[in-house]
Formats: sequence, C-alpha cells, structure tokens
Amino acid sequence: MIRGQAFTIRTLHDLVLMVVRLRYEKGLNDKARERITDIAQTNGLLDAAGKPTSKYFALIDDEVEKLARELTGHTKQAAGLCACGCGRMVRGRAKTATQACRKRMSRMAA
Ligand SMILES: [Zn+2]
Repeated sequence: MIRGQAFTIRTLHDLVLMVVRLRYEKGLNDKARERITDIAQTNGLLDAAGKPTSKYFALIDDEVEKLARELTGHTKQAAGLCACGCGRMVRGRAKTATQACRKRMSRMAA
C-alpha cells in the first residue's frame, strides 16, 4: 500500500485498510473520505457517527497494523498507543488497550 495511491476496494480487508487511511491519513480529500465512510458504514465497519465498530477492530491484521503505524508514525515502542495497532490509546503502563487487543497480539505472536 502506497500512501496517496488511488484505491480499489474488492474485499473487506481492502476496506479495513481504507478505513485506516480514512482515520490516519492527512492528505485524503473530502470526496475520498465520503466514499470510504459510506462503504464502511454499509459494511458495518463504521457506525452512523463514523466511529470504528467492533467488526472493524476484529478485522485488523498484520498488514492493517503496519499501515496504521506507517500513517501515524508510531513505532512499536511508542508510548500511549496500543501495541496491536488498533489506534486506541492505552492507560498507564498497559501495552494494549482492551482484552480483544491482547488476544489479537497473542494470535499474532503464535
Ligand atoms: Zn489495540
């Protein structure tokens, strides 16, 4: 995935990647934002308010995580950001934001 590239959405996974770009990429124009939000809401990845759903978080995998890190500029050791790459902030010295994140991390490590 190259930053700023024109996008095609064929699978739900493609759509998750687009939602990541929608959330973190600064340069997306309004038309692209509208289109991604629309498709993501249709597919249940964003709620009516444009907030990511549990379905979205469940679909996050290595590739999605990498893209999120690339776009946010957060590295693995970045303080305050969930280690699974979901983009949530963590509290205190926790590495992951939620129980689901921890599960995701252990699945990735396996
Ligand atoms: Zn997480």
